[in-house]
Amino acid sequence: MIKIDNLTKIYVSNKRNEIKALDNVSFSLADKGMVFICGKSGSGKSTLLNLIAGLDEITSGDIIVDGNSLKSLDSLSFDEYRNKLIGFIFQDYCLLDTFTIKENIELSLNLIGEDNNEKIKAILKEVDLEGYENRYPKELSGGQKQRVAIARALIKNPKYILADEPTGNLDSETSVQILNLLKKLSKDKLVLIISHSKENAYEYGDRIIELKDGCVLKDLTKNKKEYNLVCGDTIYLPLNVKLTEKQLYDVNKRIKTGMYSISQEDNMYVNTIQPEDNNQKEKLSKRKIMSFKNLFKLSKGFSKNYKLSLFFTSLMVSLLVIMMVITQVFTAFNGTYLIGNAIDEDTTEFVLYKGYYSDSFNTTLKKNRLVPISNEEIDYFYNQGYEGNIYKLYSTNLVAYTSSSLNHAYPYSTSIDYSTLTNPYVEVGKGVLECDLNYLVKVYGTNGKLDLVAGTLSDTGKCELVITDYFADCLRLYRGYSTQSILETEKIKMSLSSYNVKAIINTNYKIRYEELFNKFKDFEQSNSIPEKSRLIEEIRQSDDFLRFYNELNNTLAIGYFIDGNYEEALRKDTTISCGSWGKSTTFLYEDGTKINEEYINHGRELNTSLNDGEVILNTNFVEKFFGVDSSTFINNFVPFKIKLQDNYLYKSVLDEPLIEKDLLVVGINNSSAPHIHLSYNDYYDLYKTEIFAFGVYFDNPSGIANVYNPIEETLFYSSDKFVDGVYTIMNVVTIFNDFFKLITLAITAVCVVMLISFGQKSIKRRLYEIGVIRALGGKNGELYLTILTQILGMCLLVSIMSSMSLMFLDGYINEILIVNIMRFINNDVIKDLLIIDINPWIIIVNLLGIFTLTILCSLTLMLTLRKIKPINIIRKHEN
Ligand code: ADP
Ligand code: MG
Repeated sequence: MIKIDNLTKIYVSNKRNEIKALDNVSFSLADKGMVFICGKSGSGKSTLLNLIAGLDEITSGDIIVDGNSLKSLDSLSFDEYRNKLIGFIFQDYCLLDTFTIKENIELSLNLIGEDNNEKIKAILKEVDLEGYENRYPKELSGGQKQRVAIARALIKNPKYILADEPTGNLDSETSVQILNLLKKLSKDKLVLIISHSKENAYEYGDRIIELKDGCVLKDLTKNKKEYNLVCGDTIYLPLNVKLTEKQLYDVNKRIKTGMYSISQEDNMYVNTIQPEDNNQKEKLSKRKIMSFKNLFKLSKGFSKNYKLSLFFTSLMVSLLVIMMVITQVFTAFNGTYLIGNAIDEDTTEFVLYKGYYSDSFNTTLKKNRLVPISNEEIDYFYNQGYEGNIYKLYSTNLVAYTSSSLNHAYPYSTSIDYSTLTNPYVEVGKGVLECDLNYLVKVYGTNGKLDLVAGTLSDTGKCELVITDYFADCLRLYRGYSTQSILETEKIKMSLSSYNVKAIINTNYKIRYEELFNKFKDFEQSNSIPEKSRLIEEIRQSDDFLRFYNELNNTLAIGYFIDGNYEEALRKDTTISCGSWGKSTTFLYEDGTKINEEYINHGRELNTSLNDGEVILNTNFVEKFFGVDSSTFINNFVPFKIKLQDNYLYKSVLDEPLIEKDLLVVGINNSSAPHIHLSYNDYYDLYKTEIFAFGVYFDNPSGIANVYNPIEETLFYSSDKFVDGVYTIMNVVTIFNDFFKLITLAITAVCVVMLISFGQKSIKRRLYEIGVIRALGGKNGELYLTILTQILGMCLLVSIMSSMSLMFLDGYINEILIVNIMRFINNDVIKDLLIIDINPWIIIVNLLGIFTLTILCSLTLMLTLRKIKPINIIRKHEN
């Protein structure tokens, strides 16, 4: 029973225009029969029906259906109400175009939680549409469509069928079919039907309610007992009913008497006595949400029209996700980790050199020139927070070269040029490291002890030179030294002086690099040039070689001064065979004024017969500085006090004199070489000025990242091309980090906007369907789940496309990056570096992030949709 109680509906349009579509309407409807609502256009018929159907909001008054006040129903219960009790039939059918006939009906059945093919077949038979299951609405005539709409309403077996001008778009013959169908249904249901055709109303209706301006003008019920054409002085002409002969005779007779008035209505109808309210409240039971299978079916039907747009959006989002992941992986590049993995753990040391570029010192070797490092500069690294030991690396050249030319003793090269190596032995080693025994044990010791191949260290081991077995082999190869001669007779040339080697340590290098050495052997033994170049290329490309090369630079091709300092060692084991070469000295008068220009390229000789403070000059000097010959000089000047200033080798770098000595000229030496003679102590004082550390040696490379930045740092540079390459990349990454973060954010935003706009578009496109489904009693949640199913489908597509592409592109992108970076930083040691190492988790996290955002945003979209009444959604579409 439906009780309409003082129902008022006011439409409020934007311009403060209020339209009272229904004004205090009250009546009751029984559970059976065919009730027509008539009235002129705009009289409020549709408004009334929509309110009863729960499609629109009541302004005031109430509608009570089976004891349930519609006004107090929440939106969920409204859906239940529409779903279970109401079967609504629209004038223009409101079938879903992308669904087949069967699917349209099935949807309605699904909405009550059922799925039954037989039932669908039966209902199609009932509306006389057998065999039309797989057609689409556009393939049907109007009458057929309306019958589908009726079937869709009927399949739920609703208690009340509401139809808004169901025959409005149909021809009269088809209308009759529909009305007969509805009439049949009204035997045990209430069929409430709007019709503009009074004829139809009077022919089929059990009750007719006529509205005018939102009020009930008439409310008539068919009275089967009383049926007179003539009543009093009024003739009632029935609508749409053929008069019998007798009736025609009666009417004619009356007209002839002249006593008549003619009414169009059928006096079969009498004023309605409102049915008794039985006051029974029927509970609206809650139904379960549609099964996933049905939701999927629904979303499949929804997406029929825009598969292409779905695909393209997925493609675009996938591309963006790919970009995003690559950007993130690039910014997540961690060099410290890589260095730790790439280089043997035991040989992981890191050296920085101080240098500047010069092409004036030696025109044939335009290289970075090493510059001495001061203690303050070493402390700088500690102050920057470096944790570990820093050792000084002296000279940088340990010469195993056949030529004894001093040129080679100068630290020209800072790293071994592996691209020219054709055998595993270097001609020039990397210098001498001032370190402690613990360090050496850590690097090459076994069981906490140094393993010596030959020689012995004294008890203290202090200031003694140790070389590696590898470097001893270099000396053997290039100089023909034996182990014995290395230890007993020969001295190793380092920088300007030669030293005794006390011991040779076992580094096990031949065993550790056995394969590599075999390859070198093959190379040597091969006679064919193409084969040779293939082999050497293979060697240089091998990981073993990279490790070997790193070890050469770091620890293997190196000598060690243990537990002392270079200066101390110098006095101990140095042989000074000839004086220093290439010195730059300034001579000054006693008062400090310059005698003449500084004299470069002179030597110094040790003359043990001299006392400290005494010097013997050379005839060349005297002539050059004083402009007199030596005898004149001796006669007039000697003894003569001068000051000697020793200039730094790299005067253009440091302007300060390194040492100043007061000397007494006691004689003239007339040798042709421009040498000066000094006492033992003076000689060493000056000699000390030649002893510089050129490299800073770190034994904890993982701690370097904080203290050394190869991009910003121009004073120091690394000899380790791999490490340097990695740090350079880390720097590039750091520079781009913030920028890439912004890019990631921007891409995320673009992805979300694209997905949302896709969602919005698809909701807009489906607005009509959504309205219809809501009118059928579909829950907002179900519609949301439908859209969600689609979004999830898209997410799946995006996930597959992006992750497959990423997995596939991984190596490719890395290669492109590496090739370009190698060219950019002129470093090809990093060729195997993995800059882009795509971890599935990064992909997963990114996808989840984007999808979560999208789902949340689409949820808000659906929430706004929820506020719109179904009828408005449908109307919006129709306009
Ligand atoms: P009928 O179905 O009898 O032709 P309606 O119920 O559709 O009449 O309309 C009743 C009155 O309410 C009309 O004056 C109509 O213009 C007005 N009306 C109907 N729907 C709206 C609406 N959504 N907004 C504003 N006015 C409306
Ligand atoms: Mg209407």
